[in-house]
Amino acid sequence: MKDIKSNTEQNSSPLGRPGGAIDIKTHPCFNKDAKGKYARVHLPVAPQCNIHCHYCKRDYDCVNESRPGVTSEVLSPEQALAYTIRLKEKMPHLSVVGIAGPGDPFANPIQTMTTLRLIRKEFPEMILCLSSNGLNVLPYVDELKELEVSHVTITLNGTETKTLSQLYKWVRFEKRGYFGEQAAEILLRNQMEAIRALKRAGITVKINSIVVPGINDNVIVDIAKKMKEMEVDIMNTIPLYPVEGTPFEDFEEPSPKRMKELQNGIKEYLPPMTHCARCRADAVGLLGQDDAEAKQILSEVSNLSVNVDKTKPYVAVASHEGLLVNQHLGEATQLYIFRETPNGYRLVEQRATPKPGAGNSRWAVLADVIDDCRALLVGGIGPSPSSIIGRAGIKIVEMTGLIDEGLDAVYKGKELRTLKKADVFKCGSECSGKGTGCG
Ligand code: SF4
Ligand code: SF4
Repeated sequence: MKDIKSNTEQNSSPLGRPGGAIDIKTHPCFNKDAKGKYARVHLPVAPQCNIHCHYCKRDYDCVNESRPGVTSEVLSPEQALAYTIRLKEKMPHLSVVGIAGPGDPFANPIQTMTTLRLIRKEFPEMILCLSSNGLNVLPYVDELKELEVSHVTITLNGTETKTLSQLYKWVRFEKRGYFGEQAAEILLRNQMEAIRALKRAGITVKINSIVVPGINDNVIVDIAKKMKEMEVDIMNTIPLYPVEGTPFEDFEEPSPKRMKELQNGIKEYLPPMTHCARCRADAVGLLGQDDAEAKQILSEVSNLSVNVDKTKPYVAVASHEGLLVNQHLGEATQLYIFRETPNGYRLVEQRATPKPGAGNSRWAVLADVIDDCRALLVGGIGPSPSSIIGRAGIKIVEMTGLIDEGLDAVYKGKELRTLKKADVFKCGSECSGKGTGCG
């Protein structure tokens, strides 16, 4: 059996960083010795989810409830950076920045990747950690490696579609919704591919499994066996926490005895995590001891307006007709360019976008074309363009709705939302999953 401690030590400079400035032994979730000494913070920048777990219910403004999926505030990436800077001043022992919701980090990839980039730039020594359902991790693995994200948790609740289909209401993948065993098959395939790619990238992978009596408690050890084959590092079994208003509200929590049995079972294959605390999506402080003063900082920071580069006068918009933000960047042959004037917003011109066919250099050229724009409002955008254009210092706002609303957010410093089209597959505040998978 692989020993997580030696694995951690072996990875103390896992990504080839000379001198190993990121000391992953200070990760309190992965190293018991670090638990009482080092703090972690979850940045709640990922409000949406791309699957619907039957055990999840994501809530806001519930400061007394300590479970994943719950947060008091949702931050923009810039607010998250400001929050981390203030926290680090207050708690120099903060060693880990994690993103774990309140939805899924990769259902909100722009916010997640932008946040990681900002944090990495400001804090080269910080451990970066993510917790995801795994559905949409694969396209971002190379970038996670480049950003020296060292730890990723994937929630895997089974290795058979029959089991998984009883745990999820739906899965949304590549803009389509799936149900039943088809949903389970798509989720499982993507989870497996993500885990393989993360391991190839040298990232420490933890599996979280939610133990739901009568549904997957008999397959938890099988998960451990399969994950050992895939060289996963550690496994965390989390008892179902039945939440009112979810399909599993009347289920029994698995007994401590049953959880112990399962931990003993998985021990044969993987090191079990034994000091896990159920964490909120905005958890902060030492494990199991959330810091009240930090919560106050979170609340203050959430009221900060978003930073954009105000030396750039314009905003670029992907729109079919110049009234609504309603076009995917990949489809846009031109962008509308707006600026703010004393009499309101004025359309200055339309600029052609580079033609498709040149791979990612198309997006580098586009970043040059709109170099004088502080933001780009789009109805949709892929991971490569969002990364390339975002790195050029242009704020990306993925939304649908009136252009004026997006311009108000950018120019007037109102809360910058990345609103996506509401549909049956959007897991917003109505999500009735329970959240135990995301933390
Ligand atoms: S637990 Fe909730 S937030 Fe997490 S993946 Fe499931 S539905 Fe999404
Ligand atoms: S609770 Fe999960 S996401 Fe958060 S820091 Fe620990 S391992 Fe990372």
